[in-house]
Formats: sequence, structure tokens, C-alpha cells
Amino acid sequence: MRAPREPGRPTTGQRISGSVAGLAALAGLAGLVWAARDIPAALGGRLAGARAERAARSPQFRGDAFHNRAATRTMAPAPDRNLLRELIFGKQKRRPSVAVPLVRPTRAPEVDPARELNIVWYGHASVLVEIEGRRVLLDPVWSERCSPSATIGPRRLHEPPVRLDELPRLDAILISHDHYDHLDMATVRELTARQSAPFLVPLGVGAHLDRWGVPADRIVELDWSQTHRVADLEITCAVAQHFSGRGLRRNGTLWNSWVVAGHQRRVYYTGDSGYFEGYAEIGAAHGPFDVTLMQIGAYDRAWPGIHMFPEEAVTAHLDLRGGLFLPVHWATFNLALHDWSEPVDRLWAEAKARDVRLAVPRPGERVVVDDPPPVDGWWQSIA
Ligand SMILES: [Zn+2]
Repeated sequence: MRAPREPGRPTTGQRISGSVAGLAALAGLAGLVWAARDIPAALGGRLAGARAERAARSPQFRGDAFHNRAATRTMAPAPDRNLLRELIFGKQKRRPSVAVPLVRPTRAPEVDPARELNIVWYGHASVLVEIEGRRVLLDPVWSERCSPSATIGPRRLHEPPVRLDELPRLDAILISHDHYDHLDMATVRELTARQSAPFLVPLGVGAHLDRWGVPADRIVELDWSQTHRVADLEITCAVAQHFSGRGLRRNGTLWNSWVVAGHQRRVYYTGDSGYFEGYAEIGAAHGPFDVTLMQIGAYDRAWPGIHMFPEEAVTAHLDLRGGLFLPVHWATFNLALHDWSEPVDRLWAEAKARDVRLAVPRPGERVVVDDPPPVDGWWQSIA
């Protein structure tokens, strides 16, 4: 609809300032549109048809959402705290003082493929598992921000140590849940184009992949306790205690942890989770594990049910019958109010106290699970 005409003719000066203001408004609008251009797609897809029917049949699905086994609050009341004030005025050191050291990829050492087990951590929860000659990528996030917007939201503390086109040929790509720091649209699109591996995801997450152009025959959706065989590996979707959602809707898709089992070697990845009794069950059913990839960052006593504290992660590792403990979910995105390096300081102390074998690689550094590098505290010199 047109605006009604102003009475009288504008002067030249009025016309110029009017068009400048109009241009500025247009530029502002264009800026907003540009900033928001990918947001609707990044929010992902909605469950519909057979996918929605399958979700509704899951024992984890009640009402209109997925549920944890135990009632779990994502936020606990903390009357003595103002989280927003802490976020803005808090004295926590939320970034390193100098650049996080990155390690460039090297060739995997030549070993008997039947015994091969190496872990390459790329930062946050993005990990390459090299197991018995197979290559499995976990929760790959290569974008600058974990956010629906390219211009707003938590930003990386370091670059990815490798480009996506430098990754080896993958046998499987595993996603633990649909939060932005684990499931990244741009990364999924690039991996879809460059690789041919299937995406294994918890129930419902296939709707997002669908929307982003992943072919249906490359999407494998699993419920808790379901196993899928791929490339001679047994990959099991295991329970976790967390939540999901990329937009306003909560828990419309499932969250999980992963067991990756070869003929001889076994790896466990927590995904995001609070500490719960599921670890002892997973350890009994699928352990012992040669290595556990344990979530240690993003905790707070305001949300104890959905992210473990480092000390709890050590207990979980022992419940799981884990061998080597390799921490993830720290150093790349600081999503909570703690110092950026506090998770790994607390972890190191607890691992020593409880005699747990620990490896803390730099992003990009390969850890040979049977011969891990000693922990050298590299993060303390840049904290
Ligand atoms: Zn996370």
C-alpha cells in the first residue's frame, strides 16, 4: 500500500534528506535481511509424516515431546544469583589471553588395522575417530558461530585446525543432538557434498538434515538402544540426559550418546549430558571402552541436570569402565559462565586424585589411544 501524499511540494533539500533517510533505512533493512538470510533454514525442519509417526511410537516420546528418563530441570532456581549480571559483569576469564595452539594434521601412524585406534579432536565436540581402518566423525561444527545467525551468537575461540576438504574419506558421521554447537547447517551441507558417508542421528534430527538437502538414503535415525551396522562397525545410539531444540520448540527431537564398536576396539562419546545412572548401565552393556570422549564444559549449578561438572565426568568415566579419558566440549565455544579453561583444570586435578588416565590434546593433535601423550598443561600458559 502507498503512503498518502504529503500536501505541498517538497523542496530539493527535503527531497535529498528524505532520500538519504530512505536509503539508510533500506540499507539497515538490507543489513538485517542479510544477517538473517539463513536463519529460517538453520532452524531446521519439522517432523512430519512417517518421521513424526515413528517419533510418536518411541518410548521416549510423550505428549508432544521427547523426555529424559528422569524428570530433569534444565534450569534450577538460584535465588542468590543473577545470571545475566554475571554474564555481563562477571570477572570470569571467558577467552584465552593468546591464540589457542593448533596442530596441523599428519598421516596416521602405520599400525595393524585390526588394532588401530586414534582420536583427533578438532575443538568443542568435533572429533574424528580412527578405528580399525574406519573413519567416524562426531558432531562436526566448522562455522564461526554456533548460532542460527552468521553475525550474532557465540563465536569460536580458535579456527578449526583443518578444513573440511582436508578430512579423510568418512565411513559415518554421528550427531548427538540438534543444538547449534553440535549440529551446524553449513558443515552438514559441505559434508553432504564432499563425502558419501551416512549421517547417524537420534530420532527426529533427520528432519533438519532433510531440509538441508541430505539425501534420504544417507540419513539413519535411531532411538536409544538401537544399533546400526556400517562399514563393519557397530554403532549404538545410547541414552543421555539432556534436551534439544533449535528454535522456540523444545525437545521435538531426541538427544543421545554414542557407542562406536569395532571387532576389538570400543569408543564411547557422551554427547551432552548431566551425570546419571545410565553410565553404569552403558558400561555394563557395552564396556569396557578403550577411550571415552567426555563432555566437560558448559556446566553451571543453575543447570546441573543437563551438563556434567568435570568431577562428575570422571565418575561417569569410571562407571563406563573407560580406559583413557579424553575431554571434549571445551576450548572452542564458551557457553557457560566459567573461565574458558576451568573445566580442564578441574578435570586434571580430579583425574590425578582418582588415578584416571587422561589425554588433553591441542585442537588437531592426534591421540594414539595405546600411546597417549602425557598431559603437559598447555592451556595454562595461554590462560
Ligand atoms: Zn553442547
